[in-house]
Formats: sequence, structure tokens, C-alpha cells
Amino acid sequence: MILSNVRPWGADPVDIVMAGSRIERMVPAGTAVPAGGRVDGGGRLALPGFVNAHAHVDKSWWGRPWVSYRGEATTQGRIAHERAERDALGIPSVASTTAVLREFLRHGTTATRTHVDVDLGVGLRGIETVRAAAAALDGAIEVEIVAFPQDGVIRRPGVLELLDRAAAAGVASIGGIDPASIDRDPVAQLDGLFAIAERRGVGLDIHLHDGGELGGFQYELIIDRTARAGLHGRVTISHGFALGELPPYRQEELLDRLGEAGISWATVAPVGSAPLPWRAMLDRGIAVGLGTDGIRDLWSPYGDGDLLRVALGFARLHGLRTDEDLAGAVELATSRAAGFVHRSRHDLVPGARADVVLLDAENVPDALVRAPARRLVVAGGRLVVADGELLG
Ligand SMILES: [Zn+2]
Repeated sequence: MILSNVRPWGADPVDIVMAGSRIERMVPAGTAVPAGGRVDGGGRLALPGFVNAHAHVDKSWWGRPWVSYRGEATTQGRIAHERAERDALGIPSVASTTAVLREFLRHGTTATRTHVDVDLGVGLRGIETVRAAAAALDGAIEVEIVAFPQDGVIRRPGVLELLDRAAAAGVASIGGIDPASIDRDPVAQLDGLFAIAERRGVGLDIHLHDGGELGGFQYELIIDRTARAGLHGRVTISHGFALGELPPYRQEELLDRLGEAGISWATVAPVGSAPLPWRAMLDRGIAVGLGTDGIRDLWSPYGDGDLLRVALGFARLHGLRTDEDLAGAVELATSRAAGFVHRSRHDLVPGARADVVLLDAENVPDALVRAPARRLVVAGGRLVVADGELLG
């Protein structure tokens, strides 16, 4: 298939020639000779498919009637509320998970890392649910699973065994959550998680909401264990709000150590959180990914699955103004997030998976600040969205 007359990252117009699921070559617009189908890009801005580095596609009530929120607005309050209410809503369900993934795709997200709840109530059922939903979309959106102990690890005997079973059954990573404030035993949680990662060869992705020096202390525990276990490049800290809160001298020493350990960072750029030293992180080789977090679930009513809007939120939170910085925020949502879904390269380049999003926008900064409808989405060489709506 040829996607003709598009402007990759706002550059001069090209024809993108695809072979199977990959980009084969890119040639000046109007010069590609069609061997198969041709789709006219109309001179629109082209970006690589978005990569959602932090989602929870198993627990949304997307596509269902509105659910009013009644839980306490603390991390523990939300965990308890979700456990009390989810069965009545039929969570997890293949239908709702498919609805969320379709909405991601409609907004141009062609790969996602998703945390999937693993706990004593739901066991590993959520993982099977997400796999079934991803299969229903025929691989259009690639879904990488983190088995996530939302309800705690050490405080819930049996959860470490569930995580170990999930790892043995082929998830890409296992998760952790606030080893200090949820389990109140950070060394035990982290030792347990790292032992599984070493034994099973999976990655780690740890949700850390704890602020200030309590967060900083847990970064150090994670850094030490990552180095000791030889897990360079395989550990992610999600949220990690503390990093933006710590004083500059403390940030500096932690950034050096995080970079050396090859730890990556996923943020959903929440309103009111402390800005991250994101340029300094990138300079040290710390990958920064953007995520939607859960959308419309028992944690929060917010979110619509549009990662470009998350990038816009990131840009506003960090006070970005220059074209270079605005484009940088979009790169975090696309090309720079390759590692979060185990891709060596994700961009509009030959050899990459043919994931392309077209937007009516003058250039990349314009696309970011308006987040216009995705006119066309190609996923793995297949046309999946036209005029802003999913085909099939
Ligand atoms: Zn999350």
C-alpha cells in the first residue's frame, strides 16, 4: 500500500510505501509507483502512531452508562472503592476492554503498555481478558501487559505467587505499588518483585505515588536492586511524583544514578503535580513516556484515551513555549516511547512498523495545541481509521 502526499513531522511531502506491516521506503510525493492500493494523504501532517506508556485497559467502564464516583480521594481509598464496586460493573470484561482499545486506536494510538490488575479477588482473569480484547482487534493495536498488584503485595499474602505465575505465563513485566505507603515494607516488596524479575526474565514497572524524600528513598532502593540484578533498561518507575518535588541537588544525584541504572519513567502529567526535570532526564538517557492512566474508571472519571491530549497536558504542566519543546512533547508520545513497548525503532522511517497518523495541522506544535481529530490512522500497514472513525 502507498500512503501518498503526506508531511512526516511537518517536512516536505512524501509518499510512504509499505510492504506488509512495515514501512518499506519513503520517496518524494508523486513519485511512488503503486503496486497495490493507494490512499491519498492530501498533504496532511503525518506522525508515527502514538505509544501509550501507561494505561489500565482492564478496569474502565468506557461505553457504559455513567458511574458516579463515591470513593475516598486517597490512593488507599481508591483501591478499596474499586475492589468493592468492580464486580457489580462486570470489571474486567472483554467488551469494555475492547471499547477502550478501540478508542485508543481511533485517537491514533497503535501500541500500548497496560497495567492489568492481579490480586486475590480477580486472580489472573484480567490478563486473559486483555489478551482476548487485543486479539479481537487483530493486532491493530499492540498491547504489552504488566501484571499489576494494585491492591498491594506483601500485605496480601499470595500476590507474589500470582505475579510469579503471570510472569511464567508470558507477561512482559510485573508491577509494584508504593512499597512504603501501601505495603509499609518497601524492602520486602522490592526484594520479592526483583526476585521474580531475575528468575523469570521479565521487566518491572513500579507505581510510585509517594512524594518527597519517601519517594526519593524508594528510588534508591530500586536503583540498587536494578544494578545488582543486572536489569539495566528493564525497569520503569511510573508516576514518581517525588522526583519533581525534591530540591535540585537531590534531583541531580538521583538523575545520575537513574540514568546509570537505565531506569525509564512513565508519567501521566496530572494537573497539580510537580513538573519533572524532563530535559535533564532525556540528557541522561532516562526514557520518558506518556500515558493516559486509567480512563473513566473507578479511580477517576477523567480521560478520553487521546494521548495527544496527554502530551498537551504535559506541555502545559511544564510551561512549554518554544516549537522545539512543543515538538519534544509530541516525541515523548510517539518516537521516543519505542522502548516502552519493546520496539527498537518507532518512527516514520523504513523498517519501522507502518503506524501512521494523519492530522489536519500546519505543523507539529499546531497539532499539539489543538489536538484535532485523527483523519486517518494506519496500523501495521492496515488502514484502520478514516475521517476520524474506526473502520469495522
Ligand atoms: Zn496507573
